[in-house]
Amino acid sequence: RLPSRPRRLGALGLSPRSRFVQGGGPAAPVAWSAVSASPTEFHTSPGMRDILAPESNRWRRFVEVFESIVEPAGYRLIVPPMMEDAGVFKRVGEATDVVSKEMYEFTDLGGRHVALRPEQTASVCRAYVQHRPTTPWKAWYAGPNFRYEKPQRGRYRQFDQVGVEVLGVDDPYLDAEVIALGWRFFEALGLRRVELLVNSLGEPADRARYVEALRAYFTAHLDELTAESRQTLERNPLRVLDSKRAPDAPVIAGAPQLAEYLSKEAAAHFDAVREGLDALGIPYRVEPRLVRGLDYYLRTTFEFAGGTLDSAQNALGGGGRYDGLVEALGGPPTPGVGFALGVDRTLLACDDEGVFEPPVHTPDVFVVDTTGGLEALLVTEELRRAGYSADRAYDNRSMKAQMKAANRSGARVAVIIGEDERAAGTAVIRPLRGDGEQFAVPRSDLLTHLEAVLKP
Ligand code: AMP
Repeated sequence: RLPSRPRRLGALGLSPRSRFVQGGGPAAPVAWSAVSASPTEFHTSPGMRDILAPESNRWRRFVEVFESIVEPAGYRLIVPPMMEDAGVFKRVGEATDVVSKEMYEFTDLGGRHVALRPEQTASVCRAYVQHRPTTPWKAWYAGPNFRYEKPQRGRYRQFDQVGVEVLGVDDPYLDAEVIALGWRFFEALGLRRVELLVNSLGEPADRARYVEALRAYFTAHLDELTAESRQTLERNPLRVLDSKRAPDAPVIAGAPQLAEYLSKEAAAHFDAVREGLDALGIPYRVEPRLVRGLDYYLRTTFEFAGGTLDSAQNALGGGGRYDGLVEALGGPPTPGVGFALGVDRTLLACDDEGVFEPPVHTPDVFVVDTTGGLEALLVTEELRRAGYSADRAYDNRSMKAQMKAANRSGARVAVIIGEDERAAGTAVIRPLRGDGEQFAVPRSDLLTHLEAVLKP
């Protein structure tokens, strides 16, 4: 038996060794007796959340649905580390807020300058350069990213994304395939109000000419821009188009459009992408102001917008081509295309549309044992090994309390063992739903009888 301990600490599931004393920072382990009467109650940091059941079940299911769409299309799971040399992200995103202002970066105990990943495309490209898999290389991922953002609904400091990346293919119909995977995934979740926006950023030279035109235009309208956008303009004129701040809207509406700067090759690529989407029957809207900030993004760019969230948080995901990224990370010139979808924000969209509800997990069987609990230990194990989900009550509680727990569990049947049943070598099967009668069976035949009740 464990020594009795202050209830609150026990409830937190912490061992004495992992306990930190009040006042911040890890301290030497303290004995239970030395913990003050009201120890600090730790909570998650701002922008970070615990995801408890049933929401956590939904999260897992979400990833399973994503897997069921992308695996049959030839994409294979990659699990990159959550922390990398900060240079991986800096190399590709120096001009973005995500990297320049929001990245969790620090020096580790070995003196390495590392960062918690703010996104996974850079990690996937770094992995490609490191391992040189054969192309086309089709990868999918699911996992958390970290950005020091201002927390609000749909915007957190730790958030999950699922995504795909394909390296080594230039074909515009691949862009259509990648976009279609995202679209089919939203369909599989049951979302009906997602809008697909597409655009082309052109070839690097087209883009460079466009950036200069934008710079000139916004500089001429400097007084009408918000202070934040004036700052963004200095770093990256394209990003000004991304501003969701209302006062910037009229200036942005009058800005030059990328389409006017597209080369013939880029226009042909974009035409083929749209042809592919049309052929697949995927509805989209060409949004001439849709951009991505990184210099390595070119040609196709797209975004999935949710129909219900606030406009600042309505992007459920986005992606595009980034043909220069692998090279920027020290690899050979390699085309790439992919997307990332925000799990948290997509689930909020599901809430708003009333679809993809959290799966409720209930046991098949609840074991009630009033003889001390050893029978329940054996029977639950036997049931679980036979493939049933089985739960039980603990602490040798009264029959009434255990039956209450059985009903609350949502189980379909209770298996009851009292002193009489133990003595007779039997168990009682009691249906908890519907109006079936309870009946006693020999313990040795329990599984056969349960099967008849549970799998009619
Ligand atoms: P990005 O990598 O910035 O293109 O983001 C892709 C998607 O990830 C967005 O459309 C969001 O759904 C999600 N996302 C990005 N940042 C956050 C955040 N701070 N909190 C929650 N979701 C986010």
